[in-house]
Amino acid sequence: METTATGPSALTDDEILLRDTVRRFAEERVLPGELARDKECRFHSELVAELAEMGFLGIPVPEEYGGAGMTTMCYALTVEEIAKVSGSLALTLAAHTSLGTMMIVDFGTEEQKKEFVPPLAAGKYLGAFGLTEPQAGSDSGATRTVARREGDAYVISGQKSWITNASYAGSFVVTARTSEGRGADGISAFIVRRDAPGFAIGKPEKKLGLHSSDSCPLFFDGCRVPAAQRLGPEGEGFKYFMKTLDRGRIIIGAMALGLAEGALQRSLQYAKERKTFGKEIANHQAIAFKLADMATQIEAARLLIHQAARKKDAGLPFTREAAMAKLYASEMAMRVTSDAIQIHGGYGYTREYHVERMYRDAKLCTIGEGTSEVQRLVISRSLVQDGTGF
Ligand SMILES: Cc1cc2nc3c(=O)[nH]c(=O)nc-3n(C[C@H](O)[C@H](O)[C@H](O)COP(=O)(O)OP(=O)(O)OC[C@H]3O[C@@H](n4cnc5c(N)ncnc54)[C@H](O)[C@@H]3O)c2cc1C
Repeated sequence: METTATGPSALTDDEILLRDTVRRFAEERVLPGELARDKECRFHSELVAELAEMGFLGIPVPEEYGGAGMTTMCYALTVEEIAKVSGSLALTLAAHTSLGTMMIVDFGTEEQKKEFVPPLAAGKYLGAFGLTEPQAGSDSGATRTVARREGDAYVISGQKSWITNASYAGSFVVTARTSEGRGADGISAFIVRRDAPGFAIGKPEKKLGLHSSDSCPLFFDGCRVPAAQRLGPEGEGFKYFMKTLDRGRIIIGAMALGLAEGALQRSLQYAKERKTFGKEIANHQAIAFKLADMATQIEAARLLIHQAARKKDAGLPFTREAAMAKLYASEMAMRVTSDAIQIHGGYGYTREYHVERMYRDAKLCTIGEGTSEVQRLVISRSLVQDGTGF
């Protein structure tokens, strides 16, 4: 691998070019209007179309299915740069790619990939992923949605909650129970089209943050799905969803990293401008040390994320590393965005400054795609089973 820098988080020339391209797009196209969109809970429809035009809706999708065929590292860098200015757009991209699209790329048949992936990679519509139910979040093996086989179709009944991109998605990968009493082994995966009979999308939830991201319940009332749209063999669906979340966790870590970096950039700028007691607050040691701690934690998160992404790209096991990256980066982002508000004083507590939005947006990173507690379960189980590895 050719690199222009040294050290464990060194980037290749291609990665730097991609990062800088996305950075320019984020600063020039996404940043203007972001505060207003957040206040109005307005989805980034036009910006999603621009991302599609630039080929960013299929970054890790193989070229034969219409994607850019890039690495997980490139995908993580893209989400990080977007999250520096918009947590909502970063989540829209992450849920579409990691969950709604790559699940089909990784586990679909050739026919399913040819049919469903190209429109997703081209951004004809967004993808979504329905695992969570009102009674099954962390305990997603407790899925109650059922799929009954009827000839060459399945009939799905049940409900999903919190499904990102639902209002704008054309295809949904969802779990449903195909046999009773077998726990997670009785769960299968299906691709459901938006216009499937018996399928309905509920109203968007009103959330603490990520106001420009879309989260809705899904309702299945005798929804008929062709058997050819079952993803993998019966009973394998739950395992596929868990594997899909592994990659997703690296990307939610990258989103948290971007939010924290955005908050540090704004805090640094503000601390050099705001004066109290005759000098810039950056020259009060209490504020300077806060900035130092924020930067140090950001670098630690970056190393964890890059380690997990590089392992995934090298085809090595990365479940533990992905959980560590998400756990650390998301909790770090909460500390850093909170410190950013502190540095901005009262102004940071208002909707006129980006750090207030970043603090609210960062919270989701400790919940979505497995809570911090679930990451600790994944990490501790891996330690007990496999040892530390160092
Ligand atoms: C904005 C947003 C977007 C989302 N997008 C999607 C999506 O696109 N698709 C999708 O399927 N889901 C999505 N989700 C759902 C998300 O994945 C779940 O909210 C999450 O997995 C937690 O589930 P829960 O909310 O049911 O909480 P619960 O599982 O009820 O957890 C409640 C609390 O108990 C803790 N807890 C639970 N079990 C244990 C345990 N064994 N040990 C220790 N602590 C435990 C949890 O960590 C948490 O603190 C989204 C959620 C939000 C808020």
